[in-house]
Amino acid sequence: MSSESNRIPGDDHSSNSPTMTTAAPPPSKPAGPPARPSSRRLPSSVLTPPVPPPTPHLDDYRSIIGTAQIDALRFLAADLKGKTVKMVNSTAVGGGVAEMLNRLVPLLSELEVPTHWEVITGGNDFFEVTKAFHNALHGAQYELTKHAQEIFLMYNEQNLQRMQFAEEVVVIHDPQPAALVRTKEKTSAKWIWRCHIDLSSPNAALWEFLRPFIEEYDAAIFSSQSFARQLPIPQYLFYPCIDPLSEKNKELDDSFIQKVCDDFGIDRSRPIVTQVSRFDRLKDPVGVVEAYKLAKKYVDCQLVLAGGGATDDPEGAVVLQEVKEAAGNDPDIIVLDLPPWCALEINAIQRASTLVIQKSLREGFGLTVTEALWKGKPTIAGAVGGIPNQVIHKLTGVLVHSVEGCAFQIRYLLTHPEFARRIGTSGREHVKENFLITTNVKRWLLLFGILAGSKPAPIAA
Ligand code: UDP
Repeated sequence: MSSESNRIPGDDHSSNSPTMTTAAPPPSKPAGPPARPSSRRLPSSVLTPPVPPPTPHLDDYRSIIGTAQIDALRFLAADLKGKTVKMVNSTAVGGGVAEMLNRLVPLLSELEVPTHWEVITGGNDFFEVTKAFHNALHGAQYELTKHAQEIFLMYNEQNLQRMQFAEEVVVIHDPQPAALVRTKEKTSAKWIWRCHIDLSSPNAALWEFLRPFIEEYDAAIFSSQSFARQLPIPQYLFYPCIDPLSEKNKELDDSFIQKVCDDFGIDRSRPIVTQVSRFDRLKDPVGVVEAYKLAKKYVDCQLVLAGGGATDDPEGAVVLQEVKEAAGNDPDIIVLDLPPWCALEINAIQRASTLVIQKSLREGFGLTVTEALWKGKPTIAGAVGGIPNQVIHKLTGVLVHSVEGCAFQIRYLLTHPEFARRIGTSGREHVKENFLITTNVKRWLLLFGILAGSKPAPIAA
């Protein structure tokens, strides 16, 4: 099915514009109740970015994590008061890193550790190279060319010319801006490389190219024990995290969830199986469609694939097209190509879901898994990257290794609701203990303290 045939009538948006597709009925089918969503206009809330909500304050988390935890954060921050931090990454919207920085930066600043976030700039050629780097570091076949190295270094150099590094701590996220460290000698900062991706079996030539840069840093942080490399610098384990008060994760009124489902043509009276992800082959959206089709032979359900293209992902449109082709003309497959500001809608879709899938083939950590577990959803996820830290098989979710395994679990969980409920409840507890933003803030404060050589003052007896 072509993307044009999936367009909403009258929709003449560019490929970057939000579109909503189901495996649509033939265009000749008259629109009218009960209309399929492909024949409706997208809700206006989706077409324009909403006004950003006020940023939560530390005290707003008290009801979730308790007073003792809030006090612990203030205590750890006291010794770091006024210490300045710069965080640098490659995209302001889309993807887990941007999501996390959006919360981490204001919370650190509120704790009087002034933190500034900068995004590097680059042309399409840069993001094509860094996307290929990303995949190759995840183990994909890749031939590192001289040209790719030059593009990478040239844009890092351009950004260096533009940026200043007056802060006391500089945190560089992921490989895209990793070469900024070349300016380290000219600064008095401690430099930290925060790697969010799975480096357990990287493309050897690429890693050899990047390693000298990484070795310049004062410390490296990985999201899982298995991602760490042999490096001559200290390495730390930081689990990624979600913000329970963000638009993506906060509690929602049922009436809002219902409205979102109505707008998108999702039928809440029947089981809803959802994967929320960028349209990226490593998220295996086509595998999800195949698993759904196998399970559908035995159980009734709808499949929602909600995603969008991150600004640093030129492959997104191609993969979206592959998903539409795999979906064919099944009216129960709802493909949503959402712009990056649809956090509330994604929250609502996750909450409306009976099951959540994250069938990644490679994964950094998988914040979509964290989000689903936090919402108490029975979750089926690929046993890759940091996902097994979150999904403990048959306890906080179920792990799968194949399309068939995924299909089996869809069928099993839809027909064993008590077991599904139990793993959903345990999943939420697991997130509360380990993967909330407040735990992450604590780790940063401890690391800044270690790098600054400061120790928290002893507690007075
Ligand atoms: N996300 C989103 N819109 C989309 C797809 C994903 O807001 O269309 C969010 C998703 O809810 C999650 C993050 O982007 O918070 C994805 O993080 P994850 O670690 O799962 O994957 P990444 O995209 O970083 O590889």
